[in-house]
Amino acid sequence: MVKKENNETLNVSGLNEGVVLDHIQAGKSMDIYNYLKLDKLDCTVAIIKNARSNKMGKKDIIKIECPIDYIDLDVLGFIDHNITINIIQHDKVVEKKQLHLPSEITNVIKCKNPRCITSIEQELEHVFVLTDEEKEIYRCKYCEEKYEGRLRKQ
Ligand SMILES: [Zn+2]
Repeated sequence: MVKKENNETLNVSGLNEGVVLDHIQAGKSMDIYNYLKLDKLDCTVAIIKNARSNKMGKKDIIKIECPIDYIDLDVLGFIDHNITINIIQHDKVVEKKQLHLPSEITNVIKCKNPRCITSIEQELEHVFVLTDEEKEIYRCKYCEEKYEGRLRKQ
């Protein structure tokens, strides 16, 4: 379901219980949809692309009808910690959550070092650790290979 929304007021009517991801960088909503594995969830998802935003010019919004625990906030924080999370209950925003860079992420990005143990042992989890919060640098937990090109900067 795609709905157009042209003002800054978040329209959450019809969303009894759920989560609205606001201030997504325009054009990034499908990346987020994929990273959160929303296709695997049995719930209603509405993606709004290119909504007008005073702050950002254009933005994407995702509305998901599901309990907050279904959403991996660590993954979201890694993708873009400027996204605003609105928690909806009975058609109203009851809470706003701030994202932060997770200290560790598992199976979101893959190590590209061909000599890394994760390239050899296929069943190993891909774990990256935040080594420099200011510069937003993640390194492979096994070989310390730096992860280049965080998603939102691509
Ligand atoms: Zn590695």
